[in-house]
Amino acid sequence: MWCPRLDHFANIDNHGKVSRCPNMTYPDSYSKLYTTRNKSMRCSLVDHYLKLNAPNTIGSCHYLVPHSRFNTIDEWQNSERLARIRESHKNDIFPPDCIRCKQDEEGGRVSRRAWQEQYHEEWLKIREDYLRVNLELDVECNAACPFCDPALSSLFAKLAGVTVPKYDGLKHLMSLGIDLKRIVELDIVGGEPSISKNVERLLVDEVDRFTLQRVRVFTNGSKVMRWLPSLLERGVAVDLMVSYDGTGRIFEYSRWPIKWSKFIKNVDFYQDMREKYPNLTMATGTTMTAFNIFDMDTCSDFAKAKDMELRIVVSSRPKDIHAFCNNTLTRIGKAALERSPNEYVRSFAGSVAIEKEDNTPQLIAAMRGIDAMRSINFLDYCEDYPEVVEAMKIYQI
Ligand code: SF4
Ligand code: SF4
Repeated sequence: MWCPRLDHFANIDNHGKVSRCPNMTYPDSYSKLYTTRNKSMRCSLVDHYLKLNAPNTIGSCHYLVPHSRFNTIDEWQNSERLARIRESHKNDIFPPDCIRCKQDEEGGRVSRRAWQEQYHEEWLKIREDYLRVNLELDVECNAACPFCDPALSSLFAKLAGVTVPKYDGLKHLMSLGIDLKRIVELDIVGGEPSISKNVERLLVDEVDRFTLQRVRVFTNGSKVMRWLPSLLERGVAVDLMVSYDGTGRIFEYSRWPIKWSKFIKNVDFYQDMREKYPNLTMATGTTMTAFNIFDMDTCSDFAKAKDMELRIVVSSRPKDIHAFCNNTLTRIGKAALERSPNEYVRSFAGSVAIEKEDNTPQLIAAMRGIDAMRSINFLDYCEDYPEVVEAMKIYQI
């Protein structure tokens, strides 16, 4: 199964972007050539990545299944789990923990592991001990998505009647005692960066403390970050990851209570910004759960219409609503993926509804809980999908 294009071929498009092979199912293009080939399973995230979580824990690579949390960097670096992952990578085998990367690479898609490799050599030139840090700066969020939890969203916590201790990710980062100049990349994740004062403080006031080359900001698109130009004007590359888990009414269910019309308006605002700043790129992230699998084609159409790369991620939590589960919704979704005219979308068909046991009763129970908390009903949001409404009616949601 050797293909010379993996190492001896470069496709250069008319924007100056390069990719290995335009015939790949998902021919991503980047500013620098890299390989998606499994070269002795190197994954730079194992040694150059830190995930800081509320409340004050250190996380592993967030693509690992399941996520795990540690109290200190040493605890994570010396953990049995990491030793097992390293050993497995050394033997060119994906451990079960890395199932998401495995599935992506087997599906002909660019995995998180391969994607990160495009920067690894570059960052090594800056510092051999460079770090990429994934930071939750606080838990302020104006949405309550079904796959989220009180520890990540203040609105979710409020609706669930849970009191979550205040968290300051910046303080947490400073308390670790690491040389901040090691940090060349920051991933800013939820809460929601567009409503967080901490994010603005970090990326506008504190930015000189790092050797920052690239920032990836994940936003739900409910508000615009008007301070972004100040970062772009310093020459820092910004990847704006605009998340949407469905279009139209499915979006409004998944990202409740954000309105689809508002989201589109904000995407358009960022697109105008992108015209002005070539160091701003936009991509979209869609978390696939049982509630939206059947809407992936329209998600893909939207991304294309807005000239944004689409990355679909198969959710791994909470257990009963994730797309690996086998139930009425995931089976309908799987059939929709199989029918999709879009190769990238279709490539996920083999990754969903794969579990043996049917968990429909557990899915319904989880759905009832989430809907009751938000005072909405899933079926009211499925008007464009009569097949879903019909199939779910019998469960009397
Ligand atoms: S899940 Fe992927 S990115 Fe994370 S450690 Fe495993 S191979 Fe690396
Ligand atoms: S937008 Fe992000 S942080 Fe907010 S509820 Fe949704 S997943 Fe959670």
